[in-house]
Amino acid sequence: GLPVCECNKCYYGSDCSRLLHDCPADVDSGDPLFLEAYWQQRAASSAVVFSGWHRMSYSTDGKDYISIELEKHIRILHQVVGNAVTDGKFIVFGSGSAQLINALVYALSPSNASSSPASVVASVPYYPFYKKQTNLFETRAYGWGGTTSSWANASVSSTTNFIELVTSPNNPDGQFKQPVLGSSAVIFDYAYYWPHYSPILDPADEDVMLFTNSKISGHAGSRFGWAVIKDEGVYERTANYLSLNTMGVSRDTHLRVLKLIKVMIAEKGGKAYAWLKCEWKEEEDCHEALRKGSIISRSGALFEADSRYTRLSLIKTQDDFDLLLKRMQPLVSHEDMAS
Ligand code: PMP
Repeated sequence: GLPVCECNKCYYGSDCSRLLHDCPADVDSGDPLFLEAYWQQRAASSAVVFSGWHRMSYSTDGKDYISIELEKHIRILHQVVGNAVTDGKFIVFGSGSAQLINALVYALSPSNASSSPASVVASVPYYPFYKKQTNLFETRAYGWGGTTSSWANASVSSTTNFIELVTSPNNPDGQFKQPVLGSSAVIFDYAYYWPHYSPILDPADEDVMLFTNSKISGHAGSRFGWAVIKDEGVYERTANYLSLNTMGVSRDTHLRVLKLIKVMIAEKGGKAYAWLKCEWKEEEDCHEALRKGSIISRSGALFEADSRYTRLSLIKTQDDFDLLLKRMQPLVSHEDMAS
C-alpha cells in the first residue's frame, strides 16, 4: 500500500491541507530537503542494501581510509559537471565538510612551533561555522583572525600567516567570491558550486577546494564531504588529522554516497537531447514523420542539418518523457515489421 505521510509540522488533517494557526514559517536552517522529491522519484535506483557482514573492517581498499571506487566516481562527477579540476590532485574524505574545514586549517597552519600562529579569516558576510569552529579548536598554530576588512588597511607584517576561507558562491549572499588578502593560504569552500545552485562558469582549479555531498544530493545526514588538494604535504597533514580524529569516514556512508553519485552521474552524463535520424525511407523528413505519429520535435533543418534529423527534448517532465515513449512505441514496431 501507499506509505502514510506525516504532515509538515505546521499542517494537519487527513490530506495535510489545514494550516495550524500561528505556526511560524521556519526558514532558519540550511537543510537541503528540497532534494527529497528528486530521490523519491528514484527510490529504487538509489537504494542501497548490504549484508551484516559487509564492510566490517577498519581498512579500506584505498589509502587513508578511502574507497578507491568512491574517489574515482567523485572525480568523474566533477568532470561531467565541469565544476572542478581534480587531475593530478589528492582527495580526502571527511565526516561532512564541517570536519574538513578544521582539518585544512590545521594542515595549512605553520608546522614550525617558532612561527607565529596563522590567522583564520573570512569576508563579511560569511558562514558563521568557520569562526565558531576555529575558536573551539584553536591551537598554538592558528586562531580566528576576524574579518578580512579588519586587516585590509592594517600594516600587515610579511610574517603574518593568513588562512582565508572563501565561499563561492557565498553562503549567505550567493556572490562569487575571491580571496582579498594576497599571499595567504586559501580554502575555497565550493559547497554551492553545483548547477542546482549556481551557473558553472569554469572548472575551479584551486590548490585547496572543499565540497560537500550535503548540498549536492541533499543527504546532509550521511555526513560526507571531500577536499581536493594540490600539494602533497598539505594532503598528508590533512590525512594525518583525519586519521587521528575519526580514523576516516564511516564505510557505510561510503557505500551510500557511491550509489547516489552513480545515479547523479548517470543522469548528468546522459544526453539531454536525442538527435534522431529517420532512416526507414530515403529522403524522409524526420520531423514530419514523427509529427504524423503525434510527436512534436524540432527539425534538423532548424539547426542547418539534414531534415532526416530531428531533435527530441528529453529534459522536460517525467510525464512528457513517458508520453514520448508511448507515442514512439507504434513507430518502432512499425519499423520492426518493415525490416
Ligand atoms: N560550507 C558551507 C558554506 C555550508 O553552507 C555548509 C552547510 N551549511 C557547510 C560547509 C557544511 O556542510 P556539511 O558539514 O554538511 O558538509
